[in-house]
Amino acid sequence: MNSTDQNQVTLPKEGTPREALLQQLQGFHDQDTNWHEGRTFSLVYHAGDEHTEFLKKAYAIYFHQNGLNPSVFPSLQKFEAEVVSIAANLLGGGANAAGTMTSGGTESVLMAIKTYRDRARATNPEITAPEMIVPISIHPAFDKAAHYFDVKIRKAPLGKDFRVDLEAVKKMINPNTILLVGSAPQYPQGVIDPITALGQLAKQHGIGLHVDACVGGFILPFLKKAGYAIPNFDLSVEGVTSMSADLHKYGFAAKGASIVLYKDKELRRHQFFILSEWPGGCFASPSMPGTRPAGAIAGAWATLQAFGEDGYLKIAKTCMDNTKKIQDGIRALGFKIIGQPEMSIFGFDSDEMDVYAVADQMQLRGWYIDRQQKPTCLHLMITPAHTGHIDSFLKDLKESAVLVKSNPNLSTEGMAAMYGMMAKVPDPSMVDQVLYNYMDERYATGAASKL
Ligand SMILES: *Cc1c(COP(=O)(O)O)cnc(C)c1O
Repeated sequence: MNSTDQNQVTLPKEGTPREALLQQLQGFHDQDTNWHEGRTFSLVYHAGDEHTEFLKKAYAIYFHQNGLNPSVFPSLQKFEAEVVSIAANLLGGGANAAGTMTSGGTESVLMAIKTYRDRARATNPEITAPEMIVPISIHPAFDKAAHYFDVKIRKAPLGKDFRVDLEAVKKMINPNTILLVGSAPQYPQGVIDPITALGQLAKQHGIGLHVDACVGGFILPFLKKAGYAIPNFDLSVEGVTSMSADLHKYGFAAKGASIVLYKDKELRRHQFFILSEWPGGCFASPSMPGTRPAGAIAGAWATLQAFGEDGYLKIAKTCMDNTKKIQDGIRALGFKIIGQPEMSIFGFDSDEMDVYAVADQMQLRGWYIDRQQKPTCLHLMITPAHTGHIDSFLKDLKESAVLVKSNPNLSTEGMAAMYGMMAKVPDPSMVDQVLYNYMDERYATGAASKL
C-alpha cells in the first residue's frame, strides 16, 4: 500500500451489525476526557443523570421532525414561541420583546450582527462601511460575524478590572458605528461589562447595544434573585436593544439551542430571510440553517419546564458553592484569581510558576483546562458536574504545581512550549500560519492514526 491508500477510508461494502457499532462507540467515548467526573470545564453542561436521561427522551420524541417548517409541526412553533417568551421574561424583555431560537451562541451572535447591518442598510443608506465597537474580551463569534457579514469590528481595550474601557469606546464612536457590544459576563475573566453606561452611550448616539449573555443568560437572573451582587445587564437596561443567551450552556438543554432576543419585532424583522419567488415555493427562514433539529427545540422547552425557577435557583447556587470551594482551594495552592469574576467562570494565574505547564500536567491527569493569553492564565467554568470532584481536582492541581515549580523544563514541552513561543512571536500573522497548518492536520481526512 502506498501512503495515500493508508490514509483513505472508504464506505464499507457491507454494513456492520448495529449492536456491535454501539459497543464500539461506547468504547471510543469512554476513552475521551471523562466529562461525567467533572474533568471538562467549558464544553459540557451536565445537571445530573436524571435530567440527562429525561432530556434524551424529550429529544428522541422529536428526533425526526424539522424546525424548518413549523406549519407542518405546529407543536414546534408553540415550543419556540414559549421558550423565547420565557427567556424574554427572565431577561427583562417586556411585552414587545421578540426573538428566535438558534443552533447556538455563535448563530445567535451572527444573526444579531446581520440584523443590525441590514437595519442600517434599510434606514441609514449613507453608512457604506458599518462598524461595531466591542471589548477585546468579546467572544470570537463577533469576529466571525464581522468577517462573514462585512461589518468592521473595532476593539476597545479593557480597564484594570477587565471590563471594557468606556472612555475608549466613546472615542471610537463615529458616523459609521451601528452597534456597541458588551458581555454579561465575558468569557476570559467572567466579569460583566458596564452595561448601564454602555446603554447610555448607545442611546445618546442612536445606535444599538447588544449584550452577549450567551454564557450568563440562564444563570445571572437566578443569581440575582438569590441575592448575589449582579449588576443590571439585560433588556430592562435603557439602551440595550438585543441579547444572546445559550440554552445549551447554563440552561442545561441539549446542544443546538440558544436564543437571540430583540427589544422589539421591528428590529427582529431584519434577521429574517425571505425568498418569495423560488420555484420550490415561497421560502422564509428565521436564521442561518435550513433544516433545524426539532429535538433541540423540544428539549429546550422540556428542560425549562422540568427545572422551573426553583430548579434553576438551586443549580445557580450549586454552581456558586462549587466555584467558591474551588477558588479557595486554588488560592491556597499559590495561584491568584484574575480580576473579580461575578459568576462561575474565571481565570487563574501564578507568580510562582508557569501555568501553561500546570495545564499540561493536569491534562496528563485527565483534566482538560483551557489556556488563555493576554494575560496568561488558565480558565475554569464550574457547573453542578463538578460537585464531588473538587477535592480530587485540587489534589491533582497541587501535585502538578509542585512538579512544575521544581521542574522548569516542563515549560519547554507540550502545549506549554507552544503557548510560551506564541507569547514571544512579534508578528501575530506567523501564529495564524501555525494555526492554519494545525487545522489542516486536525481536519485531515482518512484514518485517524491516534485511535
Ligand atoms: C459560548 C459563548 C459564545 C458562543 O456560543 P456557542 O454556543 O459556543 O456557539 C458566545 N459568547 C460567549 C460569552 C460564550 O461563552
